[in-house]
Amino acid sequence: DPVYLNGRFLPLAEAGISPLDRGFLYGDGVYEVIPVYSRRAFRIDEHLQRLQATLDGIQMANPLSAEAWQAVVLKLIETAPWDDQSIYLQVTRGADDKRDHAFPPASVPPTAFAFSSPLVTTPAAVRAKGVAAITVPDLRWSRCDLKVVSLLANVLARQQAVAQGCAEALLIRDGLMKEGAASNIFIVKDGVLIAPPKTHLMLPGITYDVILELATAHQQPLAVREITETELRAADEVWMTSSTKEILAITTLDGNPIGNGRPGPYGEQMWQWYQDFKNTVMRK
Ligand code: PMP
Repeated sequence: DPVYLNGRFLPLAEAGISPLDRGFLYGDGVYEVIPVYSRRAFRIDEHLQRLQATLDGIQMANPLSAEAWQAVVLKLIETAPWDDQSIYLQVTRGADDKRDHAFPPASVPPTAFAFSSPLVTTPAAVRAKGVAAITVPDLRWSRCDLKVVSLLANVLARQQAVAQGCAEALLIRDGLMKEGAASNIFIVKDGVLIAPPKTHLMLPGITYDVILELATAHQQPLAVREITETELRAADEVWMTSSTKEILAITTLDGNPIGNGRPGPYGEQMWQWYQDFKNTVMRK
């Protein structure tokens, strides 16, 4: 199963990138992860729009049109051996022959890379129990709305969670819970779904949008507003959401139970709505 690199499809072992690539030297690049169910890409238009928004945000031209990206993704999906996949796209500012922080000359072409891997889903037993999380200070920069490959603060936060036997680290900035190291976070309190607003300090998740749409479609009480650390700890339910995790209940936080310590009914309902929605749009 080939990977895509700079206009060509070739075996992974033959896909070489210069050690002077700015993605390697500076983390000067952007990425996307698109889930594929039964060989159909879920919300691909939205993922490609977010890719464009991130490229605009770091003043990088998109090496491919949306149509060209669609064709690349389609070809990867067709040639992969798995029906359910995760498609990874990355674009960097390319490799100059000298090392300089400022942008390279326009003659330096960007690097564009994409590959498919099997979609790793959460086992039903894990979903039924929920997962543990910790809180950590949010040490990231001030443009968390951009999906850039400079992920060191996220890497360190997630590793801190894993080292403590937890699945996710929830990022606290100025007393507010913004999101997880690699997920958006929702809480439920007294039947109201509460979601942090899209600001420069949170990644606008594709799954986040789907959940807000589903809550609205099912006429659920919804509040999009900041969530304090205190409210987080007192929530009835806490969910983490992402393209690959979908909706996963967080049932303990820093060793203390959330609500009764078990996944709540609203989260289970939302997971079911999400599955139904996926199946409906994938059938089209
Ligand atoms: N926040 C962060 C920091 C992420 O890295 C991700 C995706 N891995 C998300 C939120 C969830 O975004 P999406 O629903 O588009 O996968």
